[in-house]
Amino acid sequence: MNFREAVLRGIAPDRGLYFPLHIPGFASGFLESDSELDPVEIGLACMKPYAGGEISPTRLESILQQVLEFPFPIVPLTENMATLELFHGPTLAFKDVGARFMARCLGAFTESEGKSLTVLVATSGDTGGAVADGFLGVDGVEVVILYPRGKVSDIQQRQLTAHGQNITALEVEGAFDDCQEMVKTAFVDEDFKGRKRFTSANSINVARWLPQMIYFVLAYRKLRIQNRPLVYAVPSGNFGNICAGMMAWKMGMPAAHFIAAVNANDTIVRYMETGAYEPQATRQTLSNAMDVSDPSNFIRILQLFRSDRFELSRMFSCRSFSDGKTRRALSDIYKRHSYTADPHGAVGYLALRDYLKEHPKAYGLFLETAHPIKFRETVERSIDRELPLPDSIQDLLQKPGRSIPVRNYEEVKAYLLSQPGI
Ligand SMILES: *Cc1c(COP(=O)(O)O)cnc(C)c1O
Repeated sequence: MNFREAVLRGIAPDRGLYFPLHIPGFASGFLESDSELDPVEIGLACMKPYAGGEISPTRLESILQQVLEFPFPIVPLTENMATLELFHGPTLAFKDVGARFMARCLGAFTESEGKSLTVLVATSGDTGGAVADGFLGVDGVEVVILYPRGKVSDIQQRQLTAHGQNITALEVEGAFDDCQEMVKTAFVDEDFKGRKRFTSANSINVARWLPQMIYFVLAYRKLRIQNRPLVYAVPSGNFGNICAGMMAWKMGMPAAHFIAAVNANDTIVRYMETGAYEPQATRQTLSNAMDVSDPSNFIRILQLFRSDRFELSRMFSCRSFSDGKTRRALSDIYKRHSYTADPHGAVGYLALRDYLKEHPKAYGLFLETAHPIKFRETVERSIDRELPLPDSIQDLLQKPGRSIPVRNYEEVKAYLLSQPGI
């Protein structure tokens, strides 16, 4: 399977995930070069080995220019800890990078075909908004978003439902895992053969997953001067983001350790302790984009270590934090460091802080995966202060939203079959 086919299919026919047969190394000298940092150059170094066979170098470069047009600042909080802000894209979440990259890849792939494609996406909050924005107005591509009713924030809901055009939102009676299950079922449902062509825009799609390597490498290049082992704490739900960071490490980016920071949905914490993979019912938390109990991408992390849990534990650990601790962390970060985090970043901060207590020589970065305004109520209550509304959000809140309620897979299927395809 080449990159193009893997992107178009999203998930393999046996419901498995695509994974590179061979993980290439970065060209020697690339990581150590002292030349001016150019995000597009770093993007090319990350993505050309995977996408270069099906996307020409000039097209790939122009895609990356559009994807990487916003900044990825690093904000130091203490002498051994900083945050990498990934929320300066159009929907204020890190998922903008992967979603925009994928939308433009699909644009390039379907352009010549004259056939339509339906992007099916399950979201716990942020994915849907980033995908809707990334795909809005892309010719030949319909986007259908499934989100769990009452489990996304007000701003997230607007980002899912206010676009119109080629974007449709289905409001599912259930949890994120139910949405994900419905999407997976539709992919293998024979009744759509010859009537609909689906692809996924979830983090399982290689075109969303792999470009997330870029900001890990960018951060490494910016912090190289530190000359200390660099630890990344990544707020994790479906584990795509952290797995991308680990792919960058596998390609040669030096890193000391990766910490997956999770909320009460602690399947991987338990797996790392016992070796038993036992997802439980999904629990709703303040960091709702991480309310995932059966993280799809974890299997890719295992694959990087040939499923050897002990080898894995040298480079990777997972730590879980309650909502109570998350609230206190939001307040702590604000009081001690005059920094406003969001609940996801706060979980990352907690994981990193604990790790640094045990490893005082390390330098740690926690990823800020969403703008605090997206979780306004929680943040404002925790820091006891009002957050200013960014202009883009003010516009969004004026727009009416529209979604279609669905209760089960049959209703999702009925909707999809009622729409023209191919
Ligand atoms: C999606 C999301 C995450 C989790 O990322 P994964 O790649 O699914 O692990 C964390 N924080 C925010 C704000 C998100 O939107």
